[in-house]
Amino acid sequence: MVSSSKVLTAPRGVSIIGSTGSIGKQTLDIARAHSPALSGSAEEAIRIVALAAGKSKLEDLKEQILEFQPDLVSVPDQASKEELFNRLKEHGKSLPLPTIMVGEEGLLACAEHPQAGTLVTAVVGFLGVKPTLAAIKQGKRIALANKETMVAAGHLVQELAARHQAVIVPVDSEHSAIFQSLEASLLRGRPQEVEQVLLTGSGGPFRTWSKEAIAAATVSDALNHPNWSMGAKITIDSATLMNKGLEIIEARWLFQVPESKIKVVIHPQSILHSAVEFVDGSIVGQLGLPDMRLPIHYAIFYPERVPSSRVPRLSLSQIKQLTFEEPDLERFPCLALCQEVARRDDSSACVLNAANEIVVESFLKGKIGFSGIARTLERVVGEHKPIKAPSLEDILECDKWARQQASLTLAALQTP
Ligand code: NAD
Ligand code: MG
Repeated sequence: MVSSSKVLTAPRGVSIIGSTGSIGKQTLDIARAHSPALSGSAEEAIRIVALAAGKSKLEDLKEQILEFQPDLVSVPDQASKEELFNRLKEHGKSLPLPTIMVGEEGLLACAEHPQAGTLVTAVVGFLGVKPTLAAIKQGKRIALANKETMVAAGHLVQELAARHQAVIVPVDSEHSAIFQSLEASLLRGRPQEVEQVLLTGSGGPFRTWSKEAIAAATVSDALNHPNWSMGAKITIDSATLMNKGLEIIEARWLFQVPESKIKVVIHPQSILHSAVEFVDGSIVGQLGLPDMRLPIHYAIFYPERVPSSRVPRLSLSQIKQLTFEEPDLERFPCLALCQEVARRDDSSACVLNAANEIVVESFLKGKIGFSGIARTLERVVGEHKPIKAPSLEDILECDKWARQQASLTLAALQTP
């Protein structure tokens, strides 16, 4: 279970990796509302000390730098660094420019920035593993959005977090809800009192579609999520229900519960963000509008509850109905595959995660059909020779192998 021993000092120094994405921008919106100049009290002030982003939105990154004036910025390569530098200089303001670093070294420097008490992991994919581990080793608070890190390296993350007393507060809305439910009942650290975790999910855009219609779904059908506006990868994962499956594995490690105690419940309105059922029959859950700024805000200020001008309010009397149903494992085979992988509790999760990244990219580029996603993943996982309690080296190796294997399988699928 998660330790709550560390309380951070004010103003909160925050580093964000993946600042130009969906979670990154929403984190900056929270920071904007709590800028040291605006915040009434130092305890509620957030200072952005480091930002890292990919190369596709350098103009957005430039704007973020001008607004938040971080000490350190990281971009993937030298060409992006030069472009960003020129854009900043063109702007002509006499602001002190941040140090700009590149590649893995830059990403790690952002994660380890000495003024950052909190690292928000808003990058997508396996890329998050090393910086998350680096920040944990420094005892930092992790506001964890990057679920792929927990899927691929959950046991290592938990081991290290315990050793370095680093608090991990989930940003994923369901896990934030579970975290808050466990916290509300003062039972964290007493897993024997948890009967089961009720992990809710909207069911995605294809919840009511037939198996045949799902198989023929296009990229734009899959990108059309009913309740959440998110990055492309997680939106496709939500359409296959892979996202819910990855969240089972994420919850397994975050809360140290076996897969047998994690029950997925489809809840199309996305108001109950998840719940915990205790052995006495009580179910404690967390409700709110589907807006990621709430779990981000909670993760940054935890264990305090601080008012927010950004988080929209839920009015229960305006909600006409909340409905719940069982997931359909036949129409959504990726969920069944994740459940099986979560039960195995070994390096298969890392392999599944890596293969999924490759397959989703291929689907987004229009190279494979929707049903090719699950088929490829089943094949790659089936070919893997699992390792129990994999080391970091094992995980890096499995990730690499799975990416190659997925590419080969996809190539075979595409050849007539
Ligand atoms: P996104 O695609 O919108 O953003 C990804 C960010 O990572 C971008 O800023 C991109 O520039 C950056 N990035 C890419 N390559 C990089 C590199 N080499 N170095 C540094 N940064 C790089 O993704 P997102 O939807 O914000 O999701 C981020 C994570 O949060 C994912 O793991 C996702 O599963 C999780 N999550 C997202 C949501 C959501 O509502 N968006 C909800 C729950 C969990
Ligand atoms: Mg989620």
